[in-house]
Formats: sequence, structure tokens, C-alpha cells
Amino acid sequence: PFDVLVVGGGPAGAAAAIYAARKGIRTGIVAERFGGQVLDTMAIENFISVSHTEGPKLAAHLEQHVKDYDVDIMNLQKAAKLIPADRPGGLATVELENGASLKAKTVILSTGARWRQMNVPGEDEYRNRGVAYCPHCDGPLYKGKRVAVIGGGNSGVEAAIDLAGLASHVTLIEYDSQLRADAVLQRKLYSLLNVTVVTSALTTEVHGNGERVIGLTYKDRNSEDTHLVELEGIFVQIGLVPNTEWLTDSVALTQRGEIEIDHRGHTSIEGVFAAGDATTVPYKQIVIAMGQGSAAALSAFDYLIRQVPE
Ligand code: FAD
Repeated sequence: PFDVLVVGGGPAGAAAAIYAARKGIRTGIVAERFGGQVLDTMAIENFISVSHTEGPKLAAHLEQHVKDYDVDIMNLQKAAKLIPADRPGGLATVELENGASLKAKTVILSTGARWRQMNVPGEDEYRNRGVAYCPHCDGPLYKGKRVAVIGGGNSGVEAAIDLAGLASHVTLIEYDSQLRADAVLQRKLYSLLNVTVVTSALTTEVHGNGERVIGLTYKDRNSEDTHLVELEGIFVQIGLVPNTEWLTDSVALTQRGEIEIDHRGHTSIEGVFAAGDATTVPYKQIVIAMGQGSAAALSAFDYLIRQVPE
């Protein structure tokens, strides 16, 4: 069996695997797609100490760093079920979709999350070329430009307030007849002079010039009229969905599907830890996922050294 089995090969999982392997314990990592969300991005400018890198490059570096150690990498494998140990100090089982099952003394869950997409024409084509999902990451690229934020929940309104300080103009588009964000955020939003709020609006298309985004079309749900907004950037903020569907009958999840953890990365199950975007950690970012992955591995090690051989 593994001493530490990491499920998920993004920044959190890679950090966890490296920290575990450096303790000289038997470590494995299962990933549906090694690199995780990092593979879907281009410019990364907030990976501290590296002024600029690109997603695929960082993903390759993550994999190379893990390979520097004796880690059993099982890439392109999807975990389907977690069966907790049947007694304290026992072995947990992770069943893979391919039918294999892996045993481990500790498990670190780091299966990340995915941004909910609008699923409209142009969105895929212009991803990272005007269509963005993370204001903390890509906001500064739109300094002095016109942007839209899609979604009027807390994250959309927070993004609009954030972007209003950088962009020349922000259009916030909400599907519902009213915003769903906290009142205090809405008050702040409406106090900003360079923000336009459009409610009862459905975004129907992203327009580009072959190179970059140049606008979007939305439909007014009351009048059915369509409107074109000329802009350079679109931030989609309609939800971040944790990849935890496979865990619903094992660890405790929040209503939104996030794995509940404490500040050491413990989940509701002894010997099972979690890190990164799949968890309740606030602020879903690469450096944060890495920090948490490292902490989860150290917590797993801490747990292992307290186990008395039978
Ligand atoms: P993920 O990166 O989501 O990795 C999850 C891993 O788990 C993947 O390997 C996945 O294949 C695997 N997995 C999922 N389900 C299973 C399963 N059932 N079985 C096995 N494996 C599974 N952050 C920044 O700090 N700076 C940026 O500039 C930045 N830009 C971004 C741009 C885009 C377009 C996106 C989408 C995100 C961006 N982020 C950025 C956010 C950042 O990518 C995430 O916070 C970070 O990748 C989270 O790491 P993670 O390891 O928790 O999860």
C-alpha cells in the first residue's frame, strides 16, 4: 500500500506529492490530467518569484519536479470512489474508473475545480484571448480597457468592483431580474461611476476579430431585444464547481460541494486530507493550492508517525 496517495495532479497535488516523497515514504499520485487547470491558462504573472510564465510551461515544471522524486505517477486515471478505512489506522481504498483499486494509509484529495462556462458561441474560441475566469489572475491585463463581468452573485459583483479600479468601464450582466450578491457589495457596486449593471440579460455570443475579443451580445429577457456591447474582456463568474462528485458518499462536503477542511487540511475522515480548489479554502489560486498541498502532506506525515505498528 501507499503511505500517501494523492488524488489530483494540479498545483495542490504536485506540492503534496513532493512534500510527502521528501519524507522518504511511499507516495503515489493519480491524476485525470496532470497539470490541472494550469493547462487551461496562458499568462501567469502572480506565481511569486516568477514574473511571467505560461500555463503549459508551469504544468510541465510541476510534473518534472514530481519526477525528481520516487513518486508513482498514475496519469490519465480518474478516481471514482473513496472507501475510508474500516478501522482507525486501517487502509483506505481509492477505486479508479478503469476498475483498479489502490490502497493507502493516508489519502490527500486535490481534485480541483472547474469554472462553469456560458456555453455560447465564441467562448471557447476566445478563451485566454479576452474570455477570462479569474479577476485576480487576469484583471491587470485589462488596465484601461472595457470589460464585462457575467454573473451578479457575490463573485461577479466582487469581480466588477475589483475590475472597476483597473478597467476603463465595466458592464455587469446578470441573468436574473436582480443581483444576488450581498447588499453591502451591491451598494459599493452602484456607487462606482464606471460600472453599468444590466439585469434580466442572457449573454448569447462572444465576438472576436480572429485575434481577440471585441464584444458580446446579450438578449434582454423582457423585450427579447438583442444588444451589442463593445469591449476587450469578458470575465465569466457564474460559478466554480469543485470536482468532488465522486466523494459525495464519503467525506463531508459543503452545499456547494467543497470538501470541508480545517487549517491543517484534515477532512471529516481520519487519515484523509484535502487541499486546493476542491476544498473550502478561500481564494482559489496557484500559490494557495501549493501551500495547502504542502500542509496536507505534512499533516499526513504527522498522522503516519503517530500510528503504532500492529
Ligand atoms: P486543479 O488545478 O483543478 O487540479 C485538479 C487535478 O485533479 C487535475 O490534475 C485533474 O485532472 C485532477 N482530477 C479531477 N478529478 C479527478 C478524479 N476524479 N480523479 C483523478 N484526478 C482528478 N491561478 C493563479 O494563481 N494565477 C493565474 O494566473 C491563474 N489563471 C487561471 C486561468 C484560468 C483560465 C483558470 C481556469 C484558472 C486560473 N488560476 C490561476 C487558478 C488556478 O489554476 C487554480 O487555483 C489551481 O490550478 C488549483 O489547483 P488545484 O491543484 O487545487 O486544482
